[in-house]
Amino acid sequence: MLNVLHSYCLDWGLSVNDSKTAIMVFNTTGRLLKDSLHFTLGESVIPTAREYCYLGIKFTLSGSLKTAQSTLRQKALRGYFAVKCMLDIRHIRKSILFKIFDSLIQPIVAYACQVWLPSTNLFKTLTDEGRKNTRLQSIALDPLENLHLSFMKWTMNVHKYTSNAAVWGDCGRYPLGVVLSKMVFNYKERLQEMDCEGSDALVRHAYCEQKQLNLTWYRVLTDVKNRLETGETRPLNWSSQIRSAMKRWFEKTWNTERLSNRKLQFYNTIKHEFKEELYLRLGLDNSVSKRIAQLRSSSHTLNVEAGRYGANRLSQINRVCKHCCTEDEATLELLLELPLSDPIIEDEKHVLLTCPLYTDLRHQLLPTTRELLERDIVAIFDNSVTIRDFGNFASKRFERRSLTVTHVQS
Ligand SMILES: [Zn+2]
Repeated sequence: MLNVLHSYCLDWGLSVNDSKTAIMVFNTTGRLLKDSLHFTLGESVIPTAREYCYLGIKFTLSGSLKTAQSTLRQKALRGYFAVKCMLDIRHIRKSILFKIFDSLIQPIVAYACQVWLPSTNLFKTLTDEGRKNTRLQSIALDPLENLHLSFMKWTMNVHKYTSNAAVWGDCGRYPLGVVLSKMVFNYKERLQEMDCEGSDALVRHAYCEQKQLNLTWYRVLTDVKNRLETGETRPLNWSSQIRSAMKRWFEKTWNTERLSNRKLQFYNTIKHEFKEELYLRLGLDNSVSKRIAQLRSSSHTLNVEAGRYGANRLSQINRVCKHCCTEDEATLELLLELPLSDPIIEDEKHVLLTCPLYTDLRHQLLPTTRELLERDIVAIFDNSVTIRDFGNFASKRFERRSLTVTHVQS
């Protein structure tokens, strides 16, 4: 092939740029093989390379596209920080921030996704290949999805350890791999057409080789399609149908895994559907929407949550409501020794519904909100008036608790 290229160049008076030419022999070990040392183009020996950046995508000897994904992540991070520096999110609706992500950062992330997307955890998870973590954990480990989650957490104003399931769920946003999957399957469709037409393009030959040897890229895409079709009533003929099926698969996975997540006990009682929550679209004051997001996703400092971590996480003493029990730890320890002791845990329901520390704040709520709080808390989040009212309550409640804790500590 190199000889053909050389004679073609001689015939047409062309020359090959040596500095941009390198030989790579792909192999599973990722080592530089001796076989790659003696390739020549005419008289000149072509140098070998361990990695090569071709049209902006870095290929390595092992054929792994992890380096390519990390490089894309770095590029996307630059965009992310530029957005962070320029925008004051206190005055921008969350839904607009998501649009900014989709139009400024997602195109960077999506570069050449037709090549690398099948090697992401999301696609591997779908085909159940080498899975150690839960499905959602694996998906979140993808470098680019990780960036997407960071952006959503920054937008929601919650800390980085907030449950990913709650973040995906409240933003109603699918992982980037799901959104971009249509581009990959479109590309595969185009290659299939080229194959049927008997095109002479190099890419068609590469596609035929993938198919013939059942290489990873081709195998993963075929397996994903087959896997998705098993849950459907009709075959998935178009890339858009595959993406919709993938969205349904993600929703189902999200639902199963969040219901079994003990950290999301409160969230599971108030969230029934995968969709963008109204409170993120309302343009609420930043501190108000932050408190709502924190309460919903249990990413707060209430003792039920704080008591989950640290050396004494198994002891109930860390989780009780100090206001309702006692602030004196020695007494509390003695109380807990009693058989059938049932301490009051400081969890979301306790602070929202019963803790006397916030009784006056509860009385300031609108009658509708107060009634919904006791009867149907989910409905609070479906109405802009009750959301604002609840948000103000959550914000004041947070301030009061911070003051009480500081007072106790000092
Ligand atoms: Zn209490």
